[in-house]
Amino acid sequence: MKYTNSKVEEVKFNNKKIFVKRDDLLHKDFSGNKARKFYYFLKNDFNNVTKIISHGSSQSNAMYSLSVLCKIRNLDFDYYVDHIAEYLKTNPIGNYKEALKNGMNIIVKEVPKNIDKNSIFIPEGGALEEASFGIKILANEIITWAKETNPKDLKVFLPSGTGTTALYLQKYLPFEVLTCACVGDEQYLQKQFLELEEENHPTILNLDKKYHFGKLYKEFYEVHKELKEQTNIEFDLLYDSKGWLCVNKHLNNSKSDILYIHQGGILGNISMLERYKYKYD
Ligand SMILES: *Cc1c(COP(=O)(O)O)cnc(C)c1O
Repeated sequence: MKYTNSKVEEVKFNNKKIFVKRDDLLHKDFSGNKARKFYYFLKNDFNNVTKIISHGSSQSNAMYSLSVLCKIRNLDFDYYVDHIAEYLKTNPIGNYKEALKNGMNIIVKEVPKNIDKNSIFIPEGGALEEASFGIKILANEIITWAKETNPKDLKVFLPSGTGTTALYLQKYLPFEVLTCACVGDEQYLQKQFLELEEENHPTILNLDKKYHFGKLYKEFYEVHKELKEQTNIEFDLLYDSKGWLCVNKHLNNSKSDILYIHQGGILGNISMLERYKYKYD
């Protein structure tokens, strides 16, 4: 079926065997965890709905995926941002460029307080209950794979932004879900979990150093390049670089089998790589 059923690959990173669920390959335009989170809106019928309204940063993966969804469903897409960086306006790139091509209306203004009945409002990053619909399908794919493969004491790892994907995976999986906070700190992530579910939260792993979302870090760039070299897979620079540093620190000597969820985001790498190359190469 289109947009579901990604494969699992076995890779070796720093001599540790790790399984990778390739959600980055779900579909050319609609992939990663945003495809899972917005699957509900792809599959269900909404009478009289003509528009999706959302907000966030002008580079976000969620913004791009919503633009694809709206194009497929023939809906208008209004996206509110607090600013658009000058360099992006003059030289559109990555998520921003492609979302505009898909017909996104980008609006530099506060999100409207009243949403009319012909519009659906999607909170920043897709942190909403409807996301559970597609993430449950992802969980079931993992359960089916595990039955066939018989991994040893399986742990599932994925880096978090809003934490929505990790939270619902833990809800539907019989395996422990491990994550790390990429957007805010651990307290922020715990609060995000609590807003969606009272209990059964994923385990949060930490690094010693504090990182700020969207900033450049040499070790992020390096682990990204190492991953590409050793696994032949491109991972995202905003979430996965930190994710893999966590895997290195906490799970490299683990006796458990690890399944790493690749949550996509490769289109967002174009502008990040430009910045990284300019700074470090
Ligand atoms: C959006 C995104 C995340 C964070 O997902 P949450 O469900 O908000 O935790 C992680 N990785 C990538 C590549 C993403 O695009």
